[in-house]
Amino acid sequence: MSSPFLTRRAALAGAATLPGAAALAGLASPALAEAHSGAAPAPRHHAFAIGDFKVSTLLAGTRTVPDPQSIFGMNVPSEDFAEVSSQNFLPTDAAQFFFTPTVVATGDEVVLFDTGTDPDGIRTALAAAGHAPEDITTVVITHMHGDHIGGLMAGDAPTFPNAKYVTGQVEYDAWSKMDNDGFKAKVAPLADRMSFLKDGDSPLPGITAVSAFGHTPGHMAYHLESGSDRLLLMADTANHYVWSLAYPEWEVKFDADKAAAAESRKKILGMVAADRIPLVGYHMPFPGLGYVETRGEGGFHYVPVSYQMMLKG
Ligand SMILES: [Zn+2]
Repeated sequence: MSSPFLTRRAALAGAATLPGAAALAGLASPALAEAHSGAAPAPRHHAFAIGDFKVSTLLAGTRTVPDPQSIFGMNVPSEDFAEVSSQNFLPTDAAQFFFTPTVVATGDEVVLFDTGTDPDGIRTALAAAGHAPEDITTVVITHMHGDHIGGLMAGDAPTFPNAKYVTGQVEYDAWSKMDNDGFKAKVAPLADRMSFLKDGDSPLPGITAVSAFGHTPGHMAYHLESGSDRLLLMADTANHYVWSLAYPEWEVKFDADKAAAAESRKKILGMVAADRIPLVGYHMPFPGLGYVETRGEGGFHYVPVSYQMMLKG
């Protein structure tokens, strides 16, 4: 009777001579070389559970943008912007943007919140999370900027052929009165499959619309609740994890109504901080999932989720 140690060692020695093991060993080198060159593919999804809901944040795209103070903190002196950035280990000559839709499998439905900048990005990220476009039963659009509606249509065909669509009434009404190419190409073709929400409405059980107007006229966040778990999908309520959280009143180029957007930041972030629930931010660093605490005079601090939510579900 041989000892377990010897048996295991013999098995490992044997495995090393098998063609399969040799092939795997051979594969390791190019993969490592790719990682060291910085060309390794980025993770495309991050899965976790909120009660019975299976949630994945989806990296549909990312982009480096120069001169971030032309976008964030437009109303503060450049020295202040530089000092806050430096305190937070951030450069001031470039920023990284992330585009992060969220998919939620509730058990009955597969709900996609926003669609990225283009159909390919969202299709690829959804596939990584194990979903085909045909699986999506409901698409919720938080607001109608191009980086949220861009994946809705692939040419003349809906990217999600079996979905119904939900968006805010105020948002839809505002964009339908504008002469906007994105709205005409991506939203208008789906209008007859669309239904419209106001603050507090539920598109599906456990999902509730929360007004966060200002970024766009009818921008909506969504509150998820299943079992004893909660999650706030804040969409574009705050678009940078430092500049927009520490200083909610710093003006942001993309906020249509800057005062209303600042009020929405204070309301939504204040609620999330008080209730100590996690949030997903569409433009937070991937995987876009964090907690918020109050800090300083009316400011907030972003605490990225680490392993807390991997311990459930
Ligand atoms: Zn956006």
